[in-house]
Amino acid sequence: MDMQLFSLEGRTALITGGNGGIGRAMALGLKEAGAQVAVTGRNPEKNKAIAAELGDAQLVFELDVKDETGVERTVREVVEQFGHLDILINNAGTVHSGPFIDLSLEEWNNVIGTNLTGAFLCSKHVARAMIKRGTGGKIINISSIYALFGPPDFADYPASKAGLVGLTRALAVELAPHHIQVNALLPGYFETEMSSEVPGWLRRDLERKTPAGRWGQPGELVGAAVFLASAASDYITGVQLPVDGGYSVADRLKY
Ligand code: NDP
Repeated sequence: MDMQLFSLEGRTALITGGNGGIGRAMALGLKEAGAQVAVTGRNPEKNKAIAAELGDAQLVFELDVKDETGVERTVREVVEQFGHLDILINNAGTVHSGPFIDLSLEEWNNVIGTNLTGAFLCSKHVARAMIKRGTGGKIINISSIYALFGPPDFADYPASKAGLVGLTRALAVELAPHHIQVNALLPGYFETEMSSEVPGWLRRDLERKTPAGRWGQPGELVGAAVFLASAASDYITGVQLPVDGGYSVADRLKY
């Protein structure tokens, strides 16, 4: 087999929420696979840190993915800087927890706006640029195994992540004639800032229910991201790939 299939040499990538956690790991992983990588984030300190790791402050864009004007400007600037944009990873995400009957419209709008509308906006403007250039591309949506489950006190988050899988399928079909593949990764439980507030008892329970017996580290999503960003996946579109240590297929474990 030709390992060049997995090479990202000559490709350029934009990763939203790439200044920490899973996004940072994918940014560094895609760079190692040969891609030129730009990331977005909001927090100036985190943006500064990833700029140092990527070795160029011009590769980091301050962006709130809910802001269409900002998305349009960022995509334009990335295309101007790189000449083209081949890979988009819609990774920026947020979470909120609380009983459904107390969920405010503001909280709902923030989660849906970031996790789903943000991916819609970024995909739209990047797809336009990809179609204009005419050489295809890859869109990878970071959903969640919560697209498959209905955990209590998290109504807005699974709604956003299941919506993202629906968007993935619709875009896969609509953009296929333009040689753009659109797929979703569904991470299980990963150690990041987002999951750092999970209480100890729940963490132990989730570890126990994960066939792999542990949470994932952000770097463990890199292989799947590089695969879906590379020519190795050119005939794969519209799929949802769990990366979860087996969590989503475990009905019960052997004790
Ligand atoms: P982090 O909290 O570490 O990272 C979230 C990233 O999203 C940050 O870079 C943050 O940047 C950015 N972000 C948040 N809101 C916005 C916004 N409105 N506009 C632009 N950027 C924004 O979490 P993870 O690395 O864990 O999460 C990454 C993705 O993975 C998310 O989509 C999450 O839902 C998903 N996921 C995570 C799992 C886990 O167990 N950790 C499990 C399943 C899915 P800034 O801080 O600068 O705002």
